[in-house]
Amino acid sequence: MKILLFSCGLAGLLWVQSCEAQPSIKTQKPTRSMESGKNNNPIYSRTDSNEVKLSENEWKKILSPEVYYIAREKGTERPWTSPIEEAKEVGTYYCKACGNPLFKSDTKFESGCGWPSFFEPIKKGSLHYIQDNSHGMNRVEVQCSRCKAHLGHVFEDGPPPTGLRYCINGVILDFEKAAGKK
Ligand SMILES: [Zn+2]
Repeated sequence: MKILLFSCGLAGLLWVQSCEAQPSIKTQKPTRSMESGKNNNPIYSRTDSNEVKLSENEWKKILSPEVYYIAREKGTERPWTSPIEEAKEVGTYYCKACGNPLFKSDTKFESGCGWPSFFEPIKKGSLHYIQDNSHGMNRVEVQCSRCKAHLGHVFEDGPPPTGLRYCINGVILDFEKAAGKK
């Protein structure tokens, strides 16, 4: 619990994904594009589950700078900047770096943390978990299981039924609306 409180306090200062951000930051209007990451990306596939291993140079060529920063450099977008954070459309969220299906919209919830939040992945095995002790905190990093892109972190303060909160950078998510749904 101590660690959790500590991480909350740091969130607003360092944009370290945690459980709360400063409300004043909410004045930033979402401006990021929700466009697909498919263009100019030869490894992008929503059906191929084979692991992708590329050199950092190769990743740099096929990812946009903002996706590369999150996926390969373990960056964190500023809280409240992703249009996905408040999105309520029905559909599926894919990894923007490789197309791997990651989350369903019906597991998305409003956590108030400033980043898109989900209580469970689309299926077991779609995510890869790594212990992350950076920034003086004890967190669990979440990566895409197919391409090992950094996605965000998972915390144990989510809603039922899992009690988990997957706090994910919107920049690395590629959304596709379910056919016939609003
Ligand atoms: Zn991926």
